Amino acid sequence: MKRLKNVFVKVFMAGIVVLLLAFSMLSPDAHPQRYRNFMYVRSEVAVIDRALCRINHPNDSPLLAQPLIHRQWLNRQVLRNPGLILSVYREMVEEEQQLRDSLLNKPRVIDPTKPMVALTFDDGPRPSTEKVYASLKKHNVVATFFVIGMYVSGRSELLKRLVEQGNEIGNHSWSHLNFREISHEEVVSQIVRTDAAIERAVGVKPRFVRPPMGLFDYNVRQAVGNRQIAMWSIDTLDWKHKNWEKTMDAIVGKVKDGDIILIHDLVDSTADNIEELIIYLKEEGYQLVTMSELVKYRNVQDKVIRFARP
Ligand code: ZN
Repeated sequence: MKRLKNVFVKVFMAGIVVLLLAFSMLSPDAHPQRYRNFMYVRSEVAVIDRALCRINHPNDSPLLAQPLIHRQWLNRQVLRNPGLILSVYREMVEEEQQLRDSLLNKPRVIDPTKPMVALTFDDGPRPSTEKVYASLKKHNVVATFFVIGMYVSGRSELLKRLVEQGNEIGNHSWSHLNFREISHEEVVSQIVRTDAAIERAVGVKPRFVRPPMGLFDYNVRQAVGNRQIAMWSIDTLDWKHKNWEKTMDAIVGKVKDGDIILIHDLVDSTADNIEELIIYLKEEGYQLVTMSELVKYRNVQDKVIRFARP
């Protein structure tokens, strides 16, 4: 009887040891690798949840998407079409990133009581315009791009991004001819074709025309009609010297409220260094605005010319 009792105690003790071992195997702290695997599986399930949620509610914001709770249904969907789930999830990750970026870029608010200037980039869009776009976007500031019509169709996607970011597009002729040396019909054609190309690319007809080299006469006045010719007040001559220090010299210490700065996005030294100018203007307290915004808040009649009544 005593022997039987001993066996029973031994079996009982062994049972406790087995239970303790089993418990420690399940405990996440005791087995970090197993725990990590568990977390990995759990995060995968969350991914699938969110991707399926997107498939069923495509119009919801990705940041607001709620995970699904119908586990069995979810498993069936995954088995049925794992490729779709993965591709939707990849799309979502990208969209979420874009959404976060746009939330970081808070909407611009213009304070009319504070100084403002308009940066105007001529002769694009060229490959270098991408760098200018990236710098403007990074600092959440805007400018006006006076584009050449013949370059527009090749870079309409870039133009669209510029407009979406808040920049303005102006008409700078079809092929940069001297408007004073061509016929009235040719001037009209240069302006109309460029208007059409811009409208096709971004859906808006430009409000401002800037003739090549700023040269215009009665012919051009007739062709422009009741729209506005946008001149400038600071000429950096960057197209000529292609020297960034000289470009900055034209602006630093000279810039004032209401200025329109003429600069060229096709000049590499300008596109490469434009961030420095943006930082300088911001530090000096200037708001960077588009031509339309400048005309709205400042009296720039001497620089923005309207021949006919609207
Ligand atoms: Zn030009």
